[in-house]
Amino acid sequence: MQNSPRLERIVEECYKLAFDLDFSYARRWKGEDSSRVLVGYMPVYFPREIVHAAGGLAVGILGAGDKKQVIKGDAYYQSYICRLPRGVIELLLDGNFEAFDGFIFPSICDVIRNLSGMFKILGGGKFIKYLDLPQNFVPEIGGRFYEKELWSILKLIQGINGMEPSPEKLKESINLYNRNRRLIEDIYDLRQEFPWRLSEEHLYYVLRAGLVIPVEKHNRILEEVYSCLQEDIGEMMDNIRVIVIGAFCEQPPVGLIKTIEMSGCYIVDDDFLAGLRWIDGDIESNTENPLQAIADGYISRSRLSSTVYSLKSWKGERLVQLARKRNADGVIFCAPSFCDPSLLDQPMLQAACDEAGLRYISFQYSENTGQFKVIKEQVGAFSDSIKLWEGVPIC
Ligand code: SF4
Repeated sequence: MQNSPRLERIVEECYKLAFDLDFSYARRWKGEDSSRVLVGYMPVYFPREIVHAAGGLAVGILGAGDKKQVIKGDAYYQSYICRLPRGVIELLLDGNFEAFDGFIFPSICDVIRNLSGMFKILGGGKFIKYLDLPQNFVPEIGGRFYEKELWSILKLIQGINGMEPSPEKLKESINLYNRNRRLIEDIYDLRQEFPWRLSEEHLYYVLRAGLVIPVEKHNRILEEVYSCLQEDIGEMMDNIRVIVIGAFCEQPPVGLIKTIEMSGCYIVDDDFLAGLRWIDGDIESNTENPLQAIADGYISRSRLSSTVYSLKSWKGERLVQLARKRNADGVIFCAPSFCDPSLLDQPMLQAACDEAGLRYISFQYSENTGQFKVIKEQVGAFSDSIKLWEGVPIC
């Protein structure tokens, strides 16, 4: 087995960035120029391009995970909702967001809506914006509505640093984020062929680091990772190939990702950090109206997530298509406990898997789950049943 010391170094750096609850890198970045602003955004997706063009850094906030004991945050919420908002409140009360100038709360579920209200009561940053994502996907209706929402965010940033981004600046930012998404997809495509060259755990660190650093730095990291993956590294195992779906908001603990891998699975696609891959393809940058192009990207190129309301049942079709594209043996439905969007979509997605003859299992987690024995047994049995019995005729 051949190792790549260069890749190991990058993964280690990304791990430190990804789980730094003090957001040290972003704070240092802001400190280098008095016109820079930090804008925190909650899951799942936010068009970071607009903050970049306005001289800011959009920082993804995913909660405290299993890296911080949550005590005060628990007092703000009932027991029967997911855990993400408790960790976020704990971070707010402990001053971890002190350098942040504003916060964006995309309208993905009631929990995030309530969290924006908590921030208003407790006070955080210079603005708190509840971003009403369009539910109408006609460009002239939902698209124009969304464009106005994005304008209002630019105005809030302008109120802090006085910067109004020119169309050229917006186009430049669009190109950088287009490049970011393309690099990420290239890595997924390469892993599809050689999943043993980069474990899902390490890929997760590399991607998650991108939430807290400027896109220019993240693009350089992704380029280097892609270059390392050209080498014949790692060792092929007799694993099945799975897609993990449903974990797009509150993040699973890293131990859970490792457990799935150690139980005989290559994770060949996932929606852990769905916001980074939200737009399918490029946003148009050769345009007179870049803000409209960003809005149209959301309207016509969103990868379907459970947080997007859809009357049609094509989310199931998209999952089956993805499984076929990735040559997956099965699907693992992995949802945060009490997550309405994820759990409500599950029966529909499972029906699509049934129809397509795709095997699946499901379980729930919370960001601080610490016991993985049961999950290991379940995933291990799933992997073995596919390896040993797939294709064997039933007499
Ligand atoms: S984990 Fe689910 S319920 Fe909780 S904030 Fe995220 S989308 Fe909402």
